[in-house]
Amino acid sequence: MAAPNSHPSCIVRDRKTRFVDILRTTPTDTVCPNFFVLSHANGCTFSPQCSYCYLKSALWHVQEQQAFGNTGKLLDEVRAWIAKERLESYVLNTGNLSDSLCFEPFRPLVRELVELFRTEAEAKGRPHALLLVTKGGRAECKPLLEGSPCRNVIISFSVNSRKAAARYEHGAAGVEDRLQAAAELKRQGWRVRIRIDPIIAGHDYEWVLEQVRALAPERVTLGTLRAEPNLKRRIGNGIFSALEASASPSGLSRYPKEVRLGIYGRAVAALADICPVGLCEETPDIWKAVGLDAEAKACNCNN
Ligand code: SF4
Repeated sequence: MAAPNSHPSCIVRDRKTRFVDILRTTPTDTVCPNFFVLSHANGCTFSPQCSYCYLKSALWHVQEQQAFGNTGKLLDEVRAWIAKERLESYVLNTGNLSDSLCFEPFRPLVRELVELFRTEAEAKGRPHALLLVTKGGRAECKPLLEGSPCRNVIISFSVNSRKAAARYEHGAAGVEDRLQAAAELKRQGWRVRIRIDPIIAGHDYEWVLEQVRALAPERVTLGTLRAEPNLKRRIGNGIFSALEASASPSGLSRYPKEVRLGIYGRAVAALADICPVGLCEETPDIWKAVGLDAEAKACNCNN
């Protein structure tokens, strides 16, 4: 039965449908791997939500932030997934329709998930990995910082230029806080990835590139601001005004190609000697033009 949470911005209720499912990424002209999604919540409790957040379109019908409270069933499904062989992906992404960590105060889950991956995946030498995707900082990462690292758990922080974050992401943790959490977790032995995404043209990314170089995560994914048609229609704050519409009616609007190449070229040059670099939701010609291997798909959501 649904159990309303006392916090006004989040309800905790049971999920009726399955928790673990494959996501075959669209649109098909982008270089994206397929991956499994763990649907543990719908929405994000950071407030205000980021100016460009695609959940404003993907979850337009959901009035309140929802965390699913029937975690026993969730953990049973995850255990069964880890036991499976010959999967098309061994990544279980918990940040597809939510931030992975922001629901912890309302419905604690991360500690139990990590322990499940420790006993069922790490201890048994299985390739299955839990992917936590967050714009959280040290407070949101507390369950991880207080625990022991697990090789089958990856924490992926989205970061941005400080000015862009202050303007467009001010409900999330500050960028310094996110980077500090990433550094502390890495020091403890956790697997840490970084996304610099969405890069917003006109902002200076040199500082954040330097920070990411110093952190030396296991992988970096770059993305420039983009929007699918419904998101553009729903968000009237002008943030997407410099994007060009796609030739395909359902395609992503993006910055002009030369703008994206300039942004990616600089970032790849700054990071390529540190770790594998990939692009998020980009086309194969752009990967190639900036010297990245589109076949390898070395991005956030891949094994
Ligand atoms: S942190 Fe992520 S999920 Fe939350 S509002 Fe920002 S973009 Fe959306």
